[in-house]
Order: sequence, then structure tokens, then C-alpha cells
Amino acid sequence: MIISLRDISYAELKDKLSKDDKIVLWSCNTCIKFCGIGGYDNMVLLEEMLTADGYEVIGKELVGIACMYSLTEQHRDHPNKRELFEEATAIICLSCEDGYEVAEAVFKDKKVIKVVKTLGVGNFTMDRGPVLTAPFESTGLEQSDEGYSYPEIAEKLSLYPTFFGRDEARDDSGENLVSVSINGAEYRVKEGLTIMEACMECGIEIPHLCSTPDLTPDANCRLCLVKVKGEREFTPACAVHVRDGMEIITEDDELNHNRRILLELLLASHEHNCLTCHKGNPVIAGACELQSLVRKFGIKESRFEQDKEKMPVDTTSPVLLYDPNKCILCGRCVRACREIACQDNLGFVNRGFRTVVVAGANKNFAKSPCVTCLACVFACPTGAITEKIAHYTGEDWKEELIFQS
Ligand code: SF4
Ligand code: SF4
Repeated sequence: MIISLRDISYAELKDKLSKDDKIVLWSCNTCIKFCGIGGYDNMVLLEEMLTADGYEVIGKELVGIACMYSLTEQHRDHPNKRELFEEATAIICLSCEDGYEVAEAVFKDKKVIKVVKTLGVGNFTMDRGPVLTAPFESTGLEQSDEGYSYPEIAEKLSLYPTFFGRDEARDDSGENLVSVSINGAEYRVKEGLTIMEACMECGIEIPHLCSTPDLTPDANCRLCLVKVKGEREFTPACAVHVRDGMEIITEDDELNHNRRILLELLLASHEHNCLTCHKGNPVIAGACELQSLVRKFGIKESRFEQDKEKMPVDTTSPVLLYDPNKCILCGRCVRACREIACQDNLGFVNRGFRTVVVAGANKNFAKSPCVTCLACVFACPTGAITEKIAHYTGEDWKEELIFQS
């Protein structure tokens, strides 16, 4: 992965803008997201900061791979985006320097603002986050197998290790707290959090597949059901907010028995080619959340059978592959496309076992109004929608990267 760090302060960014600018935040959704300088969350944060300071942000645009000229050009010319880019006067570019050069070339008549310095190639580690292992000569850093962490690079090269606003200590003192009991222990948590969020803040994990912090809860997978004292039915932790005095049980034999059955049902309708699945390689693709939960619950096989017809894989998109046989119908991609990409390109068709996610009006991805932002790829908990550019084939027990674009 390409490693970049933030090169300018928030004050310097504001110096490059005028209060008359119509600003579009433009973020790559690949390397820079894992560098912590891009992605949807950071665009939301920057929009909040700029708006509070009197600047006008008219759009937040995610592009799957910003250094691909053709994708950036297609995004600019997309019928749903044309008006936005005609109105824009400034583009704040959250991408590596290659992506910035592409944006400069594509948005010739706009002020395109560079935010990062690109330093070389590295990888993402669980304990240290992104590390730089093969620095460009221009950085003056030696090659390093162990790699340089962000704080180290920031100190050596006078750069910023975090995104705008993320390094400032958050003042939570004004927030209202409520008292809750979780699995018999007492906690004080922020009012307004869902049960799932409150539990996460207290270090208690609740199994889930259909929810993520970025998306509106849908409570369709039912894995996060918990017991709340006084409620006759189980409560979906992703969708219900904490109340003062709430008494919550997140796991016991009954809840876990239900979760096992739900997981077995999901497995029964999910293709079992984990050995060759792109998502089966966490280094390349991030772990499959379904597989992680199945392991956690010690499930060896499913007692259920579903006679599901095998559906064709859609390979028509330039950036992603869609394999409906691995879809668990969690709807995360549908909500990501609507809420993050603002496209509403994905939806469900049919009923029961025949329900399937489709792009556009039941067409393939290439014929749909997809803007190739990859928001659905990062939302998908399984290998159903995956990035195409570095696909893991697993053929003949050899790991092989095939590049297609
Ligand atoms: S289907 Fe939607 S979320 Fe997925 S890449 Fe296309 S526009 Fe983005
Ligand atoms: S494609 Fe992925 S994100 Fe979309 S519904 Fe299926 S499993 Fe969920």
C-alpha cells in the first residue's frame, strides 16, 4: 500500500480557501483510507470543521482508486455528479500525490488542494497501524523490514501523524452520562448511544453482521439481540438507545443458542469456498466477518440445507466483483451506496430464498449508475462484493495477485 502523511495544518488548509469557494471534499477510498487521512469518516469530520468556520462544503465524493485517471474522469462526468462539479470552485484532495496529480489534470478549472506527502510503500499492521517499509529516496529514510510508524515518520520529517482535528483532545465533559448495568456490572455511558455503541465503549463486544458504526441500523441479522430487563422481547442492540437505569444482558446460553442457529442459517445459504475467497485472506482483503463469528461460536457445520441456485458472478465493473452466492443479505452495501455514496444504486429484488442484491434496475454493475467509489466493498462483511484490482485467486495453493483494470 502507498503510504502518505498529512503535510499541512488546518490553518494552512484554510489559507488556501476563500469563504466564497464552493468546496468539494474528494477522497480516495483505498490506500489513503488505511493511512487515516481519507475515507468517508474523515470527510464528515472535515466538513464539520470547515462549516463551523464559515466555509461552504457542497459535496463529499468518494472515488474507489483516485490514482486511476479513467475512474476520476468517469466520476466527474457521471450524470449524477455533473452539476456538483460544475458548481465547485475548490477540491480538497484526500489522496496520495499520484491521486492529486490526476485530480489536478481532471479538474483543470478548479483549485485543487493537496493535503498529503506521499513517502513510499508499506503495509498495515494490527498493532502499529500503517508502517512505511520502502521509503522513496527523496525522504532520506533507509529501507526497513520493521517499518517506520506514523509517529516516527512525523517526527523525522515534520509531518502530521493524524487527520485534521483528530489530534486535538476531545472535551467530553459537557456530555450527559447515564447509568447502565451490563452483564451485572455498573457503567456510566454517554446518553444517546445505542446499546451496541455503549457496550463497545465499555469493551464489551456484541456479535453483529448487518450493522456498522457508519450506517443507519437495520436490525435485520438479529445477531445483536440482547436482553433488557422489563422488555418482553429480545432487543436489537444496534437500534435501541441506552436509557438511565437500563439493565442489559449481552450473552447467556439462550442468546448464544439463538446466535448459533442464525449463523448456521447464514452458512446454509452462503457458498463455502472460503479457501479461495478473496475475503479469506485478511492481509489483502480484511477478515470475513461471517467467518470470524462462525469461528468464535465454534460452528463446524450447518444443520440446515438450502437448495439455492448458483448465480453468475458480475465482473463488469472496472473496480469491483460481485458474487451473489456469498451474499448474506445484510444490506450494508445497499445502505452504504445510499448513505455514503449518495447513489442508491443497490437494492434487493425477489423474495425469500430468491432475494438478491442487484445494481441499477436489475442490470449489471457496468450498466448501472455506479460511481465506482468502493463504499459497498468496504461495507460488505463477506466476500460478496470485493475490490477487483488485487484479487486473491488461491489457485493450486499458490497465492497470486492478479491485476485487472
Ligand atoms: S454500487 Fe454504490 S457504493 Fe458500490 S461502488 Fe457503486 S456507487 Fe459506490
Ligand atoms: S453484498 Fe455484502 S454487504 Fe451487500 S447485502 Fe450481500 S453480504 Fe451484505
